[in-house]
Amino acid sequence: MLNTLSLFAAALVFGGAVALPVATLSQQTADDAKLRARAAKIHREAIVIDTHNDVTSPLRDEGYDLGTRDASGKNQTDIPRMKEGGLDAEFFAIYVASKYAREGGAARRAWEMIDDVYEQARRHPESLEVAYTAADIRRLHKANKISALMGIEGGHAIEDSLGLLRQFYRAGVRYMTLTHTNTNNWADSAGGIGNPAEARHNGLSPFGKEVVREMNRLGMMVDISHVADKTFWDVLETSSAPVIASHSSCRALTNVPRNLTDDMLKALAKNRGVIMINFYNGFINTEYAKPGDPVPTKSAQTATMDMLMAHFEHAIKVAGIDHVGIGSDFDGVDGLLPQGMEDVSKLPTITYELLKRGHSEADVKKVLGGNLLRVLTEVEAAARKLQASGVKPSNAQIPPAPPQPTN
Ligand SMILES: [Zn+2]
Repeated sequence: MLNTLSLFAAALVFGGAVALPVATLSQQTADDAKLRARAAKIHREAIVIDTHNDVTSPLRDEGYDLGTRDASGKNQTDIPRMKEGGLDAEFFAIYVASKYAREGGAARRAWEMIDDVYEQARRHPESLEVAYTAADIRRLHKANKISALMGIEGGHAIEDSLGLLRQFYRAGVRYMTLTHTNTNNWADSAGGIGNPAEARHNGLSPFGKEVVREMNRLGMMVDISHVADKTFWDVLETSSAPVIASHSSCRALTNVPRNLTDDMLKALAKNRGVIMINFYNGFINTEYAKPGDPVPTKSAQTATMDMLMAHFEHAIKVAGIDHVGIGSDFDGVDGLLPQGMEDVSKLPTITYELLKRGHSEADVKKVLGGNLLRVLTEVEAAARKLQASGVKPSNAQIPPAPPQPTN
């Protein structure tokens, strides 16, 4: 470090910049400490929202509990570390794997996970409360509690029933990712591990469009992470409210179908929606993703904070500061997270890194949660308007397949 500094000083001198004060190690350290203190304060004041956390899977499958710091080192989320991370609202993923679409039991799986989230709130009422609205998030932030929200991941969870969709809304589900890695009966997916992309509907089927409209009417955010590109464009054409990408990054930097192209980022901004940046190494590593890789895995071992921040910066540049947020994917990616962002306690580093890159306090607060809160508020208002204008619940169904010709 000293050698580097003396070289730096020498370079300044030989570069003719003798009039400039030579940065010293102690000055740099002091400046950095000041920035970290400022970041900590801003992070504490901000409403910090993450739209994708998969800890619901160990809650369901392993009897995991959020109350105590996980000593196993296996899980990235618990209440003590959520508090350290200054997290104010978490969307727990009601993740329904594609096997439930094939084998049945998708809705049951979703209902059980919803019950698990309520059970965590029951066990830890001093820290965690189920939230249903943007106003709830603001109220619980003031009360120093973490808002527990829910998003269904995998539209097959509604088993092609708009009645089930409404029941999920009543239970508190506030977004639905239209597909997981599998194409379902009404929406095409971008594919992923074990599920090559399958274009069965040319995007959204007529029933899929009905699902989007019913979500608009209910006030449930439409999530386009995981969907095929054509599905994305169909959603934007169909939705009368802003939509979200709950956990996706930028394709211009890491070329995987799960990430959004620049054209998509611009369209999302026009829709007043928001992209919530995914932290997973495979979606942010700028070094190895090859065109056509459905989901890179082997080379996903290492990524850096700089790579993650490059995705934030790119989305901010292309979509604008009002359309970017945090969608960590903690506990959903086998621990493959950038160095420095290993678990939920590390979230304040995002604030520090954004400030370091010159963003204002107000802009940083937008990315931390203000943008998502704005979208949720607009989605709620759009639903009220639709309901007030007399739009009734839809009971559309997928028409039965025409009989196969016999010969
Ligand atoms: Zn996902």
